[in-house]
Amino acid sequence: MKKKIIVIGSSNTDLVARSNRLPRAGETIIGSQFFQNQGGKGANQAVACAKLGGETTFIACVGKDDFGKVAKESYKKVGINTDYISSSDQPTGVAMINVDDHGENCIVVVPGANNDLDINRIDKVSHLFSKDTIVLLQLEVPIKTIEHSIEVAHQKGAMVIVNPAPAQALSDEVLSKVNYITPNETELTLLTGVEINNEEGLKEAVEKLHQKGIENVIVTLGSKGCYVSSKELKGYYEAQKVKAVDTTAAGDVFNGAFTAHLAENYPLSACIEFGTRAATFSVTKAGAQASIPSLEELNN
Ligand code: ATP
Repeated sequence: MKKKIIVIGSSNTDLVARSNRLPRAGETIIGSQFFQNQGGKGANQAVACAKLGGETTFIACVGKDDFGKVAKESYKKVGINTDYISSSDQPTGVAMINVDDHGENCIVVVPGANNDLDINRIDKVSHLFSKDTIVLLQLEVPIKTIEHSIEVAHQKGAMVIVNPAPAQALSDEVLSKVNYITPNETELTLLTGVEINNEEGLKEAVEKLHQKGIENVIVTLGSKGCYVSSKELKGYYEAQKVKAVDTTAAGDVFNGAFTAHLAENYPLSACIEFGTRAATFSVTKAGAQASIPSLEELNN
């Protein structure tokens, strides 16, 4: 039976202004372009799950403002169940992004309503967690909420996948309840204290995560693909060589695609290959959610 996917995480509105150079403190300059995009790691991963075949429910918190309404509508359009996206009196999370013509940027993120995704809101939806669900989390909402969600999901027999990004520490007790973890090298170092300068360092850090009780570790390695360590599989999976246009959200696409395939009970190696293929596709296109392929695009 196909498992249901529950993504718990952040939803942001990205406001991007392009100009030939970045403004200095106190200066106003005229820009050339403006874009408004949906973002946030939670939202990116939920969209990737849904576009790549997953039956996906997104648990998030947005403001009662227009950004919140637009966000929910856009998630609905790709088939995400938005019934459990709650709203708060805080504004919807925003990322104010200035980009110059050389690709330099400066960004201010105001999490707003994401900070209101608290333990009570998780308890209200905990009836959704069961042994027939996969719960996918990242670390852009309050850490207490993440830890509580992992506890409850584990108690109810759900499979728990954690993409520990942006890098933050998690307690050993919580980590022991995680079934799959998908750090990049920076996040792996933060979780284990092991500097990754070579293959030995990588394997030592991965072993530390196994010792904390996590059975399946997948370390994403950018253009090099990923390293997988589990009972059934150990080794590198190469990413296809492509001309990278924009690697924003490559990790999110990997996690979403991987989870969507795991929900269909494919073997781990097939899930890794699918995640890698989708992430590699996404780096050849500009944007975050705009670069996430549909199943049809990926298979063509
Ligand atoms: P981000 O924070 O940008 O979302 P990340 O650090 O979480 O990324 P990465 O390890 O950079 O994640 O990338 C995730 C996956 O995306 C890789 O395992 C690989 O499959 C694919 N990928 C990333 N960059 C490239 C690239 N330049 N060429 C091909 N595939 C890539």
